[in-house]
Amino acid sequence: MKMTLLKGLVATAVVSALTACGSDNNNDDGSISTLPTTCIEAGDACTKFTVLHTNDNHGRFFENKHGEYGMAARKSLIDKIRAEVEANGGESILLSGGDVNTGVPESDLQDARPDFVGMNLIGYDAMAVGNHEFDNPLSTVDMQRELAEFPMLAANIYDKVSGERYFDAYKVFTVNGIRIAVVGLTTEDTAKIANPEFVSGLEFTDPKEELKKVIQAIKDADEADLVFATTHMGHYADGANGNNAPGDVALARAMAEGDLAAVIGGHSQNPVCMEGSEYADFVAGGECKPDLQNGTFIMQAHEWGKYVGQANFEYFNNKLHLASYKLIPVNLKKKNEAGDRVLIGEAITPDATLLEIMQQYQDKGQEGLSEVIGTTDGKLEGDRGVVRTQQTNLGLLIAQAQRSKVDADFAVMNSGGVRDSIETGEITYKDVLTVQPFGNSITKSTLTGAEITDYLNVVATVDIGAEGSGAYPQLAGIKMEVDCEAKTVVINDINGKGYDANAMYSFTVPSYNAAGGDGYPVLTPVMTGYVDAEVMYTFIKDIGDIKIAQFAPVAGDVQFVNSKSTKACQL
Ligand SMILES: [Zn+2]
Repeated sequence: MKMTLLKGLVATAVVSALTACGSDNNNDDGSISTLPTTCIEAGDACTKFTVLHTNDNHGRFFENKHGEYGMAARKSLIDKIRAEVEANGGESILLSGGDVNTGVPESDLQDARPDFVGMNLIGYDAMAVGNHEFDNPLSTVDMQRELAEFPMLAANIYDKVSGERYFDAYKVFTVNGIRIAVVGLTTEDTAKIANPEFVSGLEFTDPKEELKKVIQAIKDADEADLVFATTHMGHYADGANGNNAPGDVALARAMAEGDLAAVIGGHSQNPVCMEGSEYADFVAGGECKPDLQNGTFIMQAHEWGKYVGQANFEYFNNKLHLASYKLIPVNLKKKNEAGDRVLIGEAITPDATLLEIMQQYQDKGQEGLSEVIGTTDGKLEGDRGVVRTQQTNLGLLIAQAQRSKVDADFAVMNSGGVRDSIETGEITYKDVLTVQPFGNSITKSTLTGAEITDYLNVVATVDIGAEGSGAYPQLAGIKMEVDCEAKTVVINDINGKGYDANAMYSFTVPSYNAAGGDGYPVLTPVMTGYVDAEVMYTFIKDIGDIKIAQFAPVAGDVQFVNSKSTKACQL
């Protein structure tokens, strides 16, 4: 005790400039505590370590056209933080909250190889398995697992045949002498929103139950001093997860207090910065207070490597303390009053070696955009004046692609999201990106027939005026009559199932419209995270040679009455 105190005093002298708060040794009841209340007081009995984290990389290995984020700059920043942490007597660990895959064509075309190579060179220690890791066949997941020089962790994914876990459940790291078990967990929604073809052989069990089991096993074997979870389950303030599977808050609340030190999360793609039980108005570069639930810290660093989360922990009295936390912007910019993009934080020079490697992948990815993925025997109609005034083969193709991607009964695709036609002949990914440049994702909602009627009463009866309207919906999988004057629809059939006001039906809408864009009613859908262009690309590539007759709108499927046009509401 004496020695510790003495060392504590020496340490105080050395680092007092770095610490803001002093300490008194009075307990709440006024008695004198014998336990140190700060890391400095604890001296050698206090261990400092730092957890760095990112999540939902979604193919962003390269900086965007404004020079924001990108793995080369991420590496420079992380290298610098690690050096600072070590100089300050700490050690660090780097975790990813999953969803490395899917989001930009240059990465998608290379099965996220550039992203995993980048993560290796940055030195990730572990990642959670995200739902988008299953956007490709399991053979691709296995390739990525081989490529990764760090474990992909998921305690709640089982191979149905063998009954064994498909991934390692956890890994124990010794960080500055503290044994930290990092457990991986994946959203149960994966079974619903991933391609059934790829995940049908896997079982996604309840992460809460699985974590309890793993923690018990870790305790029984006395393997760790602390348990962390790296999850891909989403953070929903106060546990209000809506139609999504329960997320990190529910997970933390389900554990015995003290069993789970912290959650490094992903999936909801938000900066988890709290003010009480609600999200704070986080401003890039500003303060961020992570969530604390049932004694468990919960953190998430938005998405795409826009930020690196830095949690400086202190461990003493057998307890974990969060000394400081920040989300550090990675060359993020904002527009100033003159409309120029200016850096929010300090400029980060991209790591030269990693940049060169990433550049090669970027070039290769861009070459891939020009590769022919299919052909069409006629024009796929997306001309503005046409697609906004009537059902077209391209509108139907896109709606069909989205509907089949997530196995929905029907699809609603706003015509304003169809930006160009595809001419007869060869089709490339570039053509697809010209048609769908916005990077909207696909949402899936499940409602009763009556609720769907209410929804379409608004969506299908939009008055297109003389020029046409981007709100005009392209529809697949539904037959109905639209009364433009009464602003009502009568649904005759959904996906060959007929129509029943009380039955449940599922449908897709672009994320833009689900959020109320184009005046559509706001939905609370499952966010599948599938990007529209990628869905269209895959759909075309799978078909190969498109016969436009296959996507020709069938006369009478969607009829408009009490309108100047038989193909839209024009009053
Ligand atoms: Zn996700």
